[in-house]
Amino acid sequence: MNEQPANLGLDSTVAPTPAAAQPLPAPVAAVATPPALPANAPPAIPACANCGKPLGETVYRISDRTVCQTCGQAIAKLQDLNRFAGGPWMTGAMLGLGAAIISGAIWAILVKATDRQFGLVAIGIGIFVSRAVMRGAGGRRGPSIQTLSILLSLLGVVIGKGLIASWARWDETRTALGIKDHETIFRAVTFCFGALLYFSPLDLLWYGLAVWEAWRYPRAIRIPISGPYAPGQTHSAPVTATPSGGLQFDTVQPKAPQ
Ligand SMILES: [Zn+2]
Repeated sequence: MNEQPANLGLDSTVAPTPAAAQPLPAPVAAVATPPALPANAPPAIPACANCGKPLGETVYRISDRTVCQTCGQAIAKLQDLNRFAGGPWMTGAMLGLGAAIISGAIWAILVKATDRQFGLVAIGIGIFVSRAVMRGAGGRRGPSIQTLSILLSLLGVVIGKGLIASWARWDETRTALGIKDHETIFRAVTFCFGALLYFSPLDLLWYGLAVWEAWRYPRAIRIPISGPYAPGQTHSAPVTATPSGGLQFDTVQPKAPQ
């Protein structure tokens, strides 16, 4: 009861409304000016389009963007992975072969366990094998790795189908073919021709998707990188260059990384 009149008394003295009204026009004027400042600021310090750090003296260009030397060299190195190399290809083949055998066996085990054939598994084989090939090849890509991935993925499918025919569904196979003697020999033969014995037209879809996976994942990376550019060569211009100039780097191509 006592506080209210006291507060009212303070408010009336602290807030002489005419004084508070005066600063209002100032912020209105201030709002209009700031946008101009940030717009002018960035061109002063050219930054790498990839890492955002200030560009050094030597730069690279990717399409119409400029990147620093560290990023440029790292990206140029990525491009190197597209090239064929015998050693990595061989280790890729070894790891891919292992993956093909393992994934084919897993497929047969699935069929044995569930008594159903999941054609979808073929896609999994394509994914698993292509990644194994790439890992074995140290991240290399391109046609040689793609070919390897496709062939080994199909091998994984053939192994899987072979194991399904000669092991998971052997009873069925034996009855269908009327096999009574020499089971071991017939099992071996059935293993080789399992993909034909247990073929259904829908398989073509699964095999196609497996091949597509094996082709897609290790395909070459193509980056339109150029450089290195010496100090001052392209420094200020490319950073603020219009995005429409996509072909500009074609005209100035000092040192192609390939
Ligand atoms: Zn950078």
